[in-house]
Amino acid sequence: MDFKPYIRTIPDHPKKGIQFRDVTTLFGHPRAFRAAVDALVQPYAGVQVDKIAGIEARGFILGGAVAHQLSTGFVPVRKKGKLPWKVLAEEYDLEYGTDKIEIHVDAVKAGDHVVVVDDLIATGGTAFAAIKLLERAGAKVIGCCFLVDLPDLGGADKIRALGMEVTTLVA
Ligand code: IMP
Repeated sequence: MDFKPYIRTIPDHPKKGIQFRDVTTLFGHPRAFRAAVDALVQPYAGVQVDKIAGIEARGFILGGAVAHQLSTGFVPVRKKGKLPWKVLAEEYDLEYGTDKIEIHVDAVKAGDHVVVVDDLIATGGTAFAAIKLLERAGAKVIGCCFLVDLPDLGGADKIRALGMEVTTLVA
């Protein structure tokens, strides 16, 4: 299935010059949403996966569906200050400034095989921070899944260079 027609591009959002990829249009389409989840889980048939880690917020929607399909647990990777228990935190660079993501200290067990899920990868800064967090917690991150890759920004290739499986559906 060609997923591109189901993803809306919004010019100049959130600021001038940015072409924002809006995946809510794909989430809203029953067949496209199911087919996207089916395509993202395909590389993991017969592979041990213990947890899906979804990045706030669109990674929760997609990651929850992927976790259900693979019968794994789900780990929310949240923006700072949202989780109620003790956390591990990782800072990462944005275009201007920095941000922080967090997981609960006990969100994974040592040696858990984890797949990171988000809607889109650009520079890879967010996904890299999630990988670092999960590895600090003792997990083995075996792969990452995204609906959209912005290949000019190089994030997906940087993660592949770490030897991880990276699945993307639209470039
Ligand atoms: P990166 O850290 O540069 O790879 O940016 C990826 C993060 O920014 C992901 O969490 C995305 O949800 C978000 N993001 C960046 N650009 C877009 C976009 O065009 N549409 C939706 N999310 C985006």
